[in-house]
Amino acid sequence: MRTEKSEALLNRAKKVIPGGVNSPVRAYKAVDEIPRFIERGEGAYIYDVDKNRYIDYVCSWGPLILGHADPDVISAIQEASYKGTSYGAPTLAEVELAEMIVDAVPSVEKVRLVNSGTEATMSAIRLARGYTNRDIIIKFEGCYHGHGDSFLAKAGSGVATFGLPDSLGVPKDIVKNSITLPFNNLDTLKDAFLSYKDNIAAVIVEPVAGNMGVIPPKEGFLEGLRELTMNEKSVLIFDEVITGFRVNYGGAQKLYGITPDLTCLGKIIGGGLPVGAYGGKKEIMNYIAPEGGVYQAGTLSGNPLAVAAGIATLKKLKEPKTYDKLDEMGDFLTKAIFDLTKKYNIKATANRVGSMFSLFFTNEKVTDYNSAKKSDTKLFASYFKKMLSNGIYIAPSQFEASFISLAHTYSDLEKTIEAADKTFKEL
Ligand code: PLP
Repeated sequence: MRTEKSEALLNRAKKVIPGGVNSPVRAYKAVDEIPRFIERGEGAYIYDVDKNRYIDYVCSWGPLILGHADPDVISAIQEASYKGTSYGAPTLAEVELAEMIVDAVPSVEKVRLVNSGTEATMSAIRLARGYTNRDIIIKFEGCYHGHGDSFLAKAGSGVATFGLPDSLGVPKDIVKNSITLPFNNLDTLKDAFLSYKDNIAAVIVEPVAGNMGVIPPKEGFLEGLRELTMNEKSVLIFDEVITGFRVNYGGAQKLYGITPDLTCLGKIIGGGLPVGAYGGKKEIMNYIAPEGGVYQAGTLSGNPLAVAAGIATLKKLKEPKTYDKLDEMGDFLTKAIFDLTKKYNIKATANRVGSMFSLFFTNEKVTDYNSAKKSDTKLFASYFKKMLSNGIYIAPSQFEASFISLAHTYSDLEKTIEAADKTFKEL
């Protein structure tokens, strides 16, 4: 497979962009590969500058649930663009998208549009703090909520102690209000509530973890979060930036039947354009300016192109059987790949919820960050490289989710399974 042009572009990019990329995971450091510079996407495929074609399971890290350059999304963007690209004033389309979100997502009675998932989560915790007049945020190990300072905290020395900065530049004084606990474990959460009673503003969670690889919630975990936060009058925030409109039209909260107080969205609701949103109970959302005292604003928020792409995407997702189709394809692909790992005696565990999935190179169950960390990341890197050279583009880290879109066909899935067979044989 030729990579000369990608290599040359990476060297050129490194001179003007830190690490040559605009988001760290794109640099392929974890798998020691040349990141492919992409020229175009069409349906389930992406094409790089060296003219290689890949079946794409990254789907721009989740947004492209309809595949690349979906004709309806493209024409909605084109149509909107002829009327101007931004007004900094309210529009009809924003109201329509907000109504679609409110109709779909059980917890959302009012919603505010922003420009990214990071903005949504940062704003949601400010709102939770403003609403409760408390400071502490609880989050879970291995969950990612964007790059806001409060989230760049790792677990302290004890189970329920305050966090330590997880990045240079994050003040200790900020993360001292963040507590990081193990995912899927209610006992530690109970301890934290006992220790910091009446000080916990919010518990934020990815209801299906996607950022340590895919990890579904254990039975009772989301129910327990709901009950504990309700009893303690803390705000329960579901970060559905990945799972919103991905695992179900109403998100993970609809799939599992648990309604949080606030929900963060992003990715799919912008159809591949920059967008985010946070929404929830009216009573809480009314604390946001200009109605309430929690400040949050944005020059490009509710951008007409992003909103048009979002509406076109949600309209298509609402068609009957969409999520059955995605689930069936997810089941077909992950089962076949898992069977191949058995055939070749490779230690592996496949986790999947609907069309999001991860193959962990460990034969232990993966239920939290510690168990995910037991995976053989070197083996993952070899698997990744061979799959890539066979034209299969999966997320370049053991600890990321891969996605299937409605543009994928069974023939694409079969080609992927063939590539996996070839890859495992050589591993
Ligand atoms: N929350 C979750 C669950 C995410 O997966 C991400 C990004 O991948 C974010 C928040 C941050 O979103 P963005 O990258 O749009 O800022």
